[in-house]
Amino acid sequence: MLKDAGIDSARLDARLIVSFAAGLEPSAVLIRGGLRLDDQCCDKIQAMTNRRINHEPISHILGRREFWSLDFKVNAHTLIPRPDTETLVEAVLSRVDGRSLRILDLGTGSGCILLSLLSELPECQGLGIDISQAALSIAQENAHGLGLSERARFAVGQWASHINQAFDVVVSNPPYIPSGDMADLMPEVSKFEPRQALDGGVDGLVAYRHIARDLRRLLNPAGLVFFEIGVGQATHVTQILQDNGLGNIEIIADLSGIPRVVTGKASF
Ligand code: GLN
Repeated sequence: MLKDAGIDSARLDARLIVSFAAGLEPSAVLIRGGLRLDDQCCDKIQAMTNRRINHEPISHILGRREFWSLDFKVNAHTLIPRPDTETLVEAVLSRVDGRSLRILDLGTGSGCILLSLLSELPECQGLGIDISQAALSIAQENAHGLGLSERARFAVGQWASHINQAFDVVVSNPPYIPSGDMADLMPEVSKFEPRQALDGGVDGLVAYRHIARDLRRLLNPAGLVFFEIGVGQATHVTQILQDNGLGNIEIIADLSGIPRVVTGKASF
């Protein structure tokens, strides 16, 4: 059924749906075969399958997504964490020592970047900002679920416009898809994920310019900024950081070899 609807990941999704509805681990569905399912469970499977046929992302149907081997709650108000974004987490971890740092995450969404970092850096504290209160409620729940709520705070904001404290690390995976490309996205993304987490304005770079202008105020001396970027944006984002006084710029590729993160150091 899922395959007929053109769902590429039909087998995997079917297994995830059946295991979720039956309250089993996905691996158990494979091993047990000949599973007996009661009517209620079958109705659940049917309803979830119909949602997937309609191209709703599997993460929304299950209400969860794994990122950095942690379990995150997600819904229609938060961008679904992408494996590419683990490149950003890795980039930060390989460039900071274990000291007690203060981390700012702009456009935190589900909180996946900030919370993954805090899970690896027990001395650090973080602040996650998002324009969507609904997204922050999910981030807060995730902090709670991961036992990190003592070290993670969240606040509504338009990027960093109201923030007057300085941080050692600023991270962001802002919207970076040029507005004109939004119509080409897969229905899973365009119909179900929050547009304001994806649409990066006319050239896809509006959020970077906005945030970069505030870095002088936001970064401690020798503080680091890490941006996730879209395909083909490395040169532009490098220029934006240089124009705003950042030095030591590095570009880091994801597992497919695509430049995915740009980092710079405060040298104001
Ligand atoms: N990587 C996402 C996508 O291609 C975009 C995320 C973003 O704009 N920050 O769907």
